[in-house]
Amino acid sequence: MHRQMEDHRSSAFPAFTRSILSRLPHIVHQTKGEAFVFPATGSAMWEAALVNTMNPGSRLLAPRFGQFSHLFIQTARALGHTVDVIEEPWGEVADPAKIEAALAADTNHEIQGVLLVHNETATGVTTNVAAVRAAMDRAKHPALLLVDGVSSIASLDFRFDDWRVDCAITGSQKGFMLPAGLGILYMSEQALARVEQCTMPRAYFDLRAMRTNNAQGYFPSTPALSLLYGLDEALTMLLDEGMEQVAARHRFLATGVRAAVNAWGLRECAKRPDIASDSLTAVVVPDGHDARKVIDIAFSRYDIALGSGLSELAGKVFRIGHLGDMNALTLTAALGGVEMALVDAGIHVTLGSGVGAALTCWRTPGK
Ligand code: PLP
Repeated sequence: MHRQMEDHRSSAFPAFTRSILSRLPHIVHQTKGEAFVFPATGSAMWEAALVNTMNPGSRLLAPRFGQFSHLFIQTARALGHTVDVIEEPWGEVADPAKIEAALAADTNHEIQGVLLVHNETATGVTTNVAAVRAAMDRAKHPALLLVDGVSSIASLDFRFDDWRVDCAITGSQKGFMLPAGLGILYMSEQALARVEQCTMPRAYFDLRAMRTNNAQGYFPSTPALSLLYGLDEALTMLLDEGMEQVAARHRFLATGVRAAVNAWGLRECAKRPDIASDSLTAVVVPDGHDARKVIDIAFSRYDIALGSGLSELAGKVFRIGHLGDMNALTLTAALGGVEMALVDAGIHVTLGSGVGAALTCWRTPGK
């Protein structure tokens, strides 16, 4: 990534653009439609997906079960859309049966899109997107399916074609293992068809300009070159490992983290084991304790950054990220840091208990 800037309008540049745009779809098993990259972040891709597919004043449907599903809804509302919200307790996931019922009740097909967060980073839960798509099919509803994959894409299994996702969004700073600064948007053929007809005013995120330029191997405005060079390498790393193996590695690592939480005698924010995320674990601190203290001690004494509890979870949870360039040994160190911070914060856990439980999961005798 540490390179001289170069002329992104040169005749040599299209080969680089094409190498990235042609490999991005493999990350989510996409064979139809297109992938786009903007100098932006995940939040911006909510907006990019919406302004290119939804006419002004559209009606949308969205389950809300954490801060990021909340912000996706807020983005749609800020753009002037009406969102029918299905409330779920934080720590739960989207309920396909409720989505089916809401769509079935919409006999005039007014609802234009379903907004779904695949992996709710605020609470550490993963929604079953295939089940949501099946629910939409049962309701025989034509709404587009817009999926936030910020903390799932490039770490968890993501089946763009099989789940018939219409828009999938992410950013560079999670599974792609890069600094923040790139927004990535995957569009299905159905979603792309909407781009042309959509009457929503749009400028920077107008995919018409992006498509015209990308077709020639260029971008409409200055691309974030350093990040694109990083993305090029991230794609090589991920595709060399293989996306099935990437997902399996995250599953394997998450099992150890969950064993550690259990050994500490703490509970996860995820309400049920079958919805617990493989890319991060949100841990609830016992009553009478403040998770912010754990996070601050971890940061200032042990040089480890834990995620904070967001919005209504502030002070109640801390989050251990386990996605990206990581293996059992790096995660062992992280769990050790968490243990020391917990003890220092006055939370009763036995030093070594979580690390020991994780190592028991991760050791591979005979290998
Ligand atoms: N969606 C989810 C699930 C996230 O975890 C995040 C950020 O962590 C976002 C959206 C927002 O992405 P960004 O911070 O890149 O704008």
